[in-house]
Parts: sequence; structure tokens; C-alpha cells
Amino acid sequence: MKTTTIPKPPRVGLVSLGCPKALVDSERIMTKLRSDGYDMSPDYAGADVVLVNTCGFLDSAKAESLEAIGEAIAENGRVVVTGCMGKEADVIRERFPGVLAVTGPQQYEEVVAAVHDAAPPVASPFTDLVPEAGLKLTPRHYSYLKISEGCNHRCAFCIIPHLRGDLVSRRPDAILREAEKLVAAGTKELLVISQDTSAYGLDLKHASWPWKGGEVRAHMTDLVRELGKLGAWVRLHYVYPYPHVDSVIPLMAEGLLLPYLDIPFQHASPKILKAMKRPANEAKVLARLRDWRAQVPDLAVRSSFVVGFPGETEEDFDYLLNWLEEAQLDRVGAFKFEPVEGAPATSMPDQVPDEVKQERYDRVMALSARISAEKLAAKVGKTIDVLIDAVDAENGGATGRSKADAPEIDGEVQLRDSGHLEQGDIVPVLVEDSDEHDLFGVPA
Ligand code: SF4
Repeated sequence: MKTTTIPKPPRVGLVSLGCPKALVDSERIMTKLRSDGYDMSPDYAGADVVLVNTCGFLDSAKAESLEAIGEAIAENGRVVVTGCMGKEADVIRERFPGVLAVTGPQQYEEVVAAVHDAAPPVASPFTDLVPEAGLKLTPRHYSYLKISEGCNHRCAFCIIPHLRGDLVSRRPDAILREAEKLVAAGTKELLVISQDTSAYGLDLKHASWPWKGGEVRAHMTDLVRELGKLGAWVRLHYVYPYPHVDSVIPLMAEGLLLPYLDIPFQHASPKILKAMKRPANEAKVLARLRDWRAQVPDLAVRSSFVVGFPGETEEDFDYLLNWLEEAQLDRVGAFKFEPVEGAPATSMPDQVPDEVKQERYDRVMALSARISAEKLAAKVGKTIDVLIDAVDAENGGATGRSKADAPEIDGEVQLRDSGHLEQGDIVPVLVEDSDEHDLFGVPA
């Protein structure tokens, strides 16, 4: 009897660096490669080609990217580079002449073509199968949903617009179709990401597309309302406080969106915000925060701040601390200003010495830890919904997140006596205790 030998599919190794947006790029590339018949290799040795998705946001991220490329060359030798650092192809080629190809961010076709050249695909009825929702690098129960690329702002400390270009929004019907597939495949939480979620659809002039017998407009409010109807938690990241953000608050009150806003304020002092070229008016923001909380009392606001921006005086910094005390944000991340090659702030006068940056960083973190601890302590005795991320079968515990916690960046809810819970379950939990970042409880 004649037997047919099924050719072994070529294997691609992946090193994915950088932010959730880069992770989504990696997912898209790997989804396409999988549909072209490629397998993924968990290690360098088994890979026919290694793809390094780089990050170029800060100089430290660039150094990490170069190190990752060097390691992939040493361990495997057949390396394709993509992502934000791909804009600096000369730097990469000079340091690693053996790199097979260098492509920039969002150049999906180019990077896939480079992999095809490096390790040609083989047709096979088995390897051509791809799950409907594509391949994901996050656990099945939550998914990042990228709604646009690029950014129209020009913040003085940031080179993302230079790396990724101006705002390019995806069509709302395409986003919704992707979200539907993700929910059908088991996603319980959709994390909406972009560089500037509030600006979604500006470049499309907020035009409408057919959707489910009606129409959906390319506008943040309309898009998230439709997302909210899919039955999963919907969490908004990178929201700038433009006036129309007010219109998503009622959707939170209705339960269509999680009562959560990730707003990267970056500072509070009007002088520093102006120097940063940030579009924000902190006085109005405090009033709006009060108004939002009046409508949605359990609204959780997360933000990030830069300390030690050039020209930041002790007075500016005190302004920030006082503002934070008043704003009572639930989650705060702080970064010490880091000069990035190509960013205008790098050559600004009055750079702040490192030890001052460190001291200010420590003070911001101490203040936000105290506020966070107080806010979490107020939840003790309450029953809240928790999405289970991981179950510890051995000691009967589990880890999850409340509606106020985004994965990776916020706190967790630690559960004892979790019984028969599984990853992806959403359960009511009685909060018994708290600390600076996390809650502790039992299934209610
Ligand atoms: S809003 Fe500012 S910090 Fe954010 S990506 Fe655009 S330029 Fe960079």
C-alpha cells in the first residue's frame, strides 16, 4: 500500500517585546503565519526562523530589543526583525549584518513575506487549520482588542507618532466581528487598546458602516456601546479626557462597560502639561472626575505619571501631589522621565538630576500606595464580581481580578476555598481583607 508522507511544517520562533499593542501585532502575524501552514516553536533550537518583534519606545527598550536580536542570532542564526525598532533598520543591520529582514511596525504583509522567504511554507491540510478567533498570546478568557494605530498628538517625551505614524482607525464592523469571534471562542473580557482611544474614528470622519441590520459609526461611544452588547466585560484603556468621554459614563452606569477608565494624565501642573504638549486642563478634569463618580460610584480610574520632566520644579511636583490627593485615583503608575533619542524633551533645558527623579518617584508611589490602600480597605465586607485568572489546585486557592483591575498592571483578588472554580469563571466574592494593591476573599 502506498502511504503519503505529510511534509513537516516549517517552525517559527517568536520573541515579542514591548507593550500590549506590540503583543497584538505579534498575535496578528502569528495568526497569519499559522494560516499559511507554519508551526510555532517554543525554543530557538526547533525554529527554522526566529521573528523578533521589537520595542523602540525608550532607549532602555531599544537596548533590550538589540539584546534580544543578538541572542536570537547567536542561538539560531536565521532572524527576521519587526516592530517599532524596524524604523531603525540601519542601526540593526550595522550591528547584526546577518539579519535576514527588517520590517517596521504594522507591516504585516512585509514581515509575513520575509518569513516565507526565510522558510518557505509547505501546503498541508493539517497545518492549514486555524482557530476561528486566530492565535492568541493571552489566556483564552481575556483578549486585547486594538481599534487603531498611530497617534495625532506630539507629546514632547514620546516618539510613538514618529515610529507608528498618525492615527489610522480600523473599521468599526471589522473590530466588532473580531470581538464577536473572540467572545465565541471563550473571551470573557475585551481590553480596548490604541494609542488614543478617545480619538478613534477621527481619521474616518466618524463615518458609518452596516452592522447587524443597522449601522455603526466609527466613534468611540458608538463602538463601545456595540462591544458592550456582546456579553463580555469591556475595559477601556488609553482614554484621553476629551469632552465626549462624558458620553461613555452612562454606558458604564447601564452595565454595558466596566466602570473603569485608564487615562494617562502624565502630570497635573499646567506648566508641565504645556511643556509636555499634553491636551488637558487639570482643573476641569477634577470637576469631571467628581461628576463621573456621581454617576458611577464604583468607577475605578487608573493613570500614569511622569516625574522629573525637564523644568519640573519642587513647586510643580507639589502641585502634582496635591492634585493626586484630591483626585483619589484608584491605580497610579509612575515613571521617571527618560530622555529618548528623537524626542523634543530630550534636548530641553533644566533636565532634572537622577537622584531628584528617584526621590520624587518614591514620594508619588508612597502617596498613591496610601490612597490605594484606603480605597481597597473600603471594599472589605462587600461582595464583588471577580474574573478568575488562575486556580491553584494544590492548595485550593485562586487568583482573579475585580472590575477595577486590568490584567498585568493593576491589583488582584486572592481567593481561599475556591472550590471548583475554573479559569474564566466570573463569581461573586466576599472581600475579607486588603493591602496596598490586592484584595483577599472567599467565593460568596
Ligand atoms: S498621546 Fe502622546 S504619549 Fe501617547 S502615543 Fe501620542 S504622542 Fe505618544
